[in-house]
Amino acid sequence: MLAYLDHAATTPVLPEAAEAMIPWLTAQFGNPSGSHSVARAARAAVEEARERVAGVLGVEPGAVVFTGGGTESDNLAVRGAVEARRRAGLPPGVVVTSAVEHHAVLHAAARAGVPVREAPVTADGVVDLDALAGLLDADVTVVSIMLANNEVGTVQPLDEIVELVRRRAPAAVVHTDAVQAFRWIDLRSAAAGADLVSLSAHKFGGPQGVGVLAAREGAAVHRMVEGGGQERERRPGTHNVAGILGAAAAAVATDAGRAGYVGDVAARRDRLAGGLLAGIAGASLMGASAPRVPGIAQLCFGDVESEALLVLLDDAGVAASAGSACASGAIEASHVLLAMGVPERQALGALRLSLAPSTTDAEIDAALDAVPRAVGQLRAATVAAPGGR
Ligand code: PLP
Repeated sequence: MLAYLDHAATTPVLPEAAEAMIPWLTAQFGNPSGSHSVARAARAAVEEARERVAGVLGVEPGAVVFTGGGTESDNLAVRGAVEARRRAGLPPGVVVTSAVEHHAVLHAAARAGVPVREAPVTADGVVDLDALAGLLDADVTVVSIMLANNEVGTVQPLDEIVELVRRRAPAAVVHTDAVQAFRWIDLRSAAAGADLVSLSAHKFGGPQGVGVLAAREGAAVHRMVEGGGQERERRPGTHNVAGILGAAAAAVATDAGRAGYVGDVAARRDRLAGGLLAGIAGASLMGASAPRVPGIAQLCFGDVESEALLVLLDDAGVAASAGSACASGAIEASHVLLAMGVPERQALGALRLSLAPSTTDAEIDAALDAVPRAVGQLRAATVAAPGGR
């Protein structure tokens, strides 16, 4: 049996999404930008998908921009909002973000061509609101703070952040990367105050390579690539019709199922984290006292290296991750854990286990068996090695 506990990296396509996509990968086709009947049918399908996505986000259909994934949505939000101001003859200002954002936001901010201010976080990974307040002033044009962190799962107090921004940085638009949040949190209320909201379909049962940026009225974003006039000139290029329909179907299914599964997933996650904390000396749970999404548990073991641990777990049939998927492979401590003040040696041993609504008790049991054994094996090898502790 494979215990797949890496759903924050990507998660299987939901049946509803596959069902919505298959016709458009087989008999049906069409370029939504054309004018004949085949094109019109494709356009109607995309517009219906747009309405469905808008409905689950609580925004107007015109706010929904379909993109090529979460990374692109984040870039369009951060760099696109700065560029829109430039094009409108306004000062591009300053971007404010947090130290624990995904690289899609951090690197986009660094490329926006304006000064960037980074808010620190507490030891639990929550944005330090006093420090954030100190970074906000009339020069700030974009504030980008994620709703749920992809490594630790911490949920940021977005309402309070929006309130602070409105008071202290009235010229700013607020962007939230809700890529890891949507599966667990109703964004109609949780992201109601944000002007720009990013989603990625493959994190909630849609296909890979499809994203959404919801840009509420007044939140202008300028396209990142040049081409045709699609998506109201915000995202040129022929639509990925099948992918967009799959994303919309997954979004609707997620929204309909969410209230029914979040409690069960949180209980499984807590059983997993609790068992590992009890069974492995020196283990610690990251962000333990902060609000967290139900699907993520990140633990540090202090004296093992994540990469070696992942190899042993893979051999034992447990698929997990060292942190964000992009960081695994590179032996670098996670910027998120370092920002939380976790010592580098400990951060190098971080293990992220992430669940889906479909995760079974048997998968949790498999991890509860395999992780302590793998950690024990690595510790024994360290002690046995010449010069080992
Ligand atoms: N933002 C967060 C919080 C993520 O977890 C990810 C993916 O890991 C992304 C953005 C990027 O999304 P995508 O993989 O669709 O480009």
